[in-house]
Amino acid sequence: MQKRKIIKIILIIVTISFLIPYYFLEDKNDLLEIHFIDVGQGDGILIKTPNDKVLIIDGGPYDDFNKKVSSKLPYRKRNIDLLVITHAHQDHYLGLINVLENYRVDNIIYSGYDADFSDYVYLMSLIKEKNINLITAQYGKIISLDKDINLKILYPISQKVEEKDINNTSVVIKLEFKNFDAIFTGDLTCAGEAEILKYETNLESKILKVGHHGSKGSSCNSFLESTKPELVVIQVGLDNKFNHPHKDAISRLNKFTNKILRTDELGTILILSNGNEYWSKIIK
Ligand SMILES: [Zn+2]
Repeated sequence: MQKRKIIKIILIIVTISFLIPYYFLEDKNDLLEIHFIDVGQGDGILIKTPNDKVLIIDGGPYDDFNKKVSSKLPYRKRNIDLLVITHAHQDHYLGLINVLENYRVDNIIYSGYDADFSDYVYLMSLIKEKNINLITAQYGKIISLDKDINLKILYPISQKVEEKDINNTSVVIKLEFKNFDAIFTGDLTCAGEAEILKYETNLESKILKVGHHGSKGSSCNSFLESTKPELVVIQVGLDNKFNHPHKDAISRLNKFTNKILRTDELGTILILSNGNEYWSKIIK
């Protein structure tokens, strides 16, 4: 009996000593990672900070988004610090249901504009049931995500009550990390962009996640003149029925940059930054 006990203790010690190096050495770096995940026709973005804070912006239309998230997070990470649901369209929120069922989500920001689709109602009931801190996006609010990494809410300017186009309820966020910045626009159209420009005179940003999958009615000249993006990312599905991205939007973007990265052509796109420089990696 005594012998079996000793063997058991030895086995436990051996197992722990194997696991300890994994726990401490796993994937540690000082870089901000922005994964524009290939979710087909939709948006799904995972952001991981140097101290492993995790922000998710939208989750695409399929329930495998959770698996894609898991594959990019350290094994020990079991919570999502902040989740942003830009707006109540399925190509942005459906994949988030599985994330909510599999991870502890600490905070959620949403537009405050609800839809009555049954899966959206289920998503909201899940948030309530899990008692997650649900924050309505408020223009100008600044959220600290990690040391030197802040998010600024740019849209909606005021809470939407009546809006014919749900795309124009999209939460828009600017992320700042020292000299690096990126704007995430959800599916905002030119009307929403113009509203932001009434309040923000300089939106200059290294990276722009292009609005509404590169549709004709987003990424208007005045918004691009203010954001002056060096690199733009279009999250869009291959051969999608909407014919996104539209050639007019592409030609407007081309006036500002020739770095147009598309998930339909490249798959998942990873942008890395140390707060000064940034670079992109294509993950097939
Ligand atoms: Zn969309």
